Amino acid sequence: MNLSRSDHPEIREAVGSLCKQFDSAYWQQVDEKRAYPEAFVDALTKAGWMSALIPEAYGGSGLSLTEATVIMEEVTRSGGNAGCCHGQMYNMNTLLRNGSEAQKKKYLPRIASGELRLQAMGVTEPTAGTDTTKIKTTAVKKGDRYVVNGQKVWTSRLQHSELMILLARTTPLDQVAKKSEGLSTFIVDTKSKGLEIRPIRNMVNHETNQVFIDNLEIPAENLIGEEGRGFRYILDGLNAERILIAAECVGDGYWFVEKATTYAKDRVVFDRPIGKNQGIQFPIAESYMEIEAANLMRYKAASLYDQKQPCGAEANMAKHLAAKASWEAGNVCLQTHGGFGFAAEYDVERKFRETRLYLVAPISTNLILSYLAEHVLGLPRSF
Ligand SMILES: Cc1cc2nc3c(=O)[nH]c(=O)nc-3n(C[C@H](O)[C@H](O)[C@H](O)COP(=O)(O)OP(=O)(O)OC[C@H]3O[C@@H](n4cnc5c(N)ncnc54)[C@H](O)[C@@H]3O)c2cc1C
Repeated sequence: MNLSRSDHPEIREAVGSLCKQFDSAYWQQVDEKRAYPEAFVDALTKAGWMSALIPEAYGGSGLSLTEATVIMEEVTRSGGNAGCCHGQMYNMNTLLRNGSEAQKKKYLPRIASGELRLQAMGVTEPTAGTDTTKIKTTAVKKGDRYVVNGQKVWTSRLQHSELMILLARTTPLDQVAKKSEGLSTFIVDTKSKGLEIRPIRNMVNHETNQVFIDNLEIPAENLIGEEGRGFRYILDGLNAERILIAAECVGDGYWFVEKATTYAKDRVVFDRPIGKNQGIQFPIAESYMEIEAANLMRYKAASLYDQKQPCGAEANMAKHLAAKASWEAGNVCLQTHGGFGFAAEYDVERKFRETRLYLVAPISTNLILSYLAEHVLGLPRSF
C-alpha cells in the first residue's frame, strides 16, 4: 500500500530506501534496550538529510520546510521513530534565523558535516511548566561570559548532542515591562562544566533528561541575537517544530492505517477475514480520512512557512489535528490486531506509545485550543 505518497518522489524514494535498512527488528531492539538509534541517525546525517534546512552556503542542502517535513514523514512511515533526530531540524532554526554571521560560520558547516549535533533545546523547567516566562534559570553577565544557574526538565537528546539551545532569564521578571522580555537564548557546549544530567526513564524510548545547572559559564559570544529577546527567538522556531511534528504524526498515521488494513485482510476469524466486518473496516476508513485531512493542514502550514507568511494558527492546527488523528489511528490499529497488538514483534504497541507523546509535547492540546480561542477567534484569554 502506498497511500498519499505521490508528492516529492525523489525525497521519498531516497529517504524511504535509507529507512528500509533499519527495519522493524532494528527499532524493536533499540526500544527494548532503551538505546539511542545511533546507526540510524548517523546514516541520516551522512546522507545529508539532517542538514536539509541548512543553506547551501553553509554546507547544507538548503531545502524548504515542506521538503524537510517529507523527510520526517518518511522516517515515521517506515516504522521508525523520528524523536531521536527531529530536534536538529528545528533547533537549527533559532540559530539560522537569529544567529550572527560569525555564529553561523562557526557552527553550521560543522553541523552539516555531522561533526556536531545540535539536537537539544533546554526550555521547559519543573516549576514553570508551560508558563515559560516564569522560568527560574538565570544567566548573569560577568565580563566576557554569562554565569548560568537553574534547572531544566525534559531536555531531550542532550547526551547525544554537542550543542544545546538554552533559554535563561537575563533580567529579573519584576524589572521588565512585559513578562516575555528579559529572556535570552544561548548556544551551549554540552560538555561544559556545570551541567549535571539525570536521565528520565519514560514511556517511550526517548532520551530525555533533568538538567541541573550550577555556575555554568557561557562565553558572551554564544548569546544568540540580542540579550532579552530570546523568548521571541524560541517562538520563531516553534512553528517549524510544530509543522515537522505534524508530518511525523501523519507518517505514523499512515503507518497505522496500512498496518491495520493489511492485518484486517489477512486475519481470518469465523472463517472470514476480520476486515469483512464493518466494525473493523469503518474505524480504519475513518482514521484514513482524518489523517488525509490533517495532512492538508500540514501542507498548508508548511507552505505558509516557506513563503514567510504568518502561520502560527496553521502550525498549531496541523500539529494538533495530526497528533489526534495518528493517536486515534494507533488505537484503531491496536484494536484491529486484538491480542497481537500488544506483542512487541508487531511494532503496534511501540508506535502507539511513540505517537501518543505528540498530544503533550512539544505543546499540549489545551494550550493549542486556548491559543486558537484567543488569537484566532478573539475570545477572552482563559487564564
Ligand atoms: C518525552 C518528552 C520530551 C520533551 N522534550 C523537551 C525538550 O527537548 N525541550 C524542552 O524544553 N521541553 C521538552 N519537553 C517538555 C514539553 O514541551 C512539556 O512537557 C509540554 O509543553 C507540557 O508542559 P508541562 O509538562 O510542564 O505541563 P504543564 O504546563 O504542567 O501542564 C500540565 C497539563 O495542564 C494543562 N494546562 C496547563 N495550563 C493550562 C491552562 N491555562 N488551561 C488549560 N490547561 C492547562 C496542560 O495542557 C497539560 O495537559 C518534553 C516533554 C516530554 C514528555
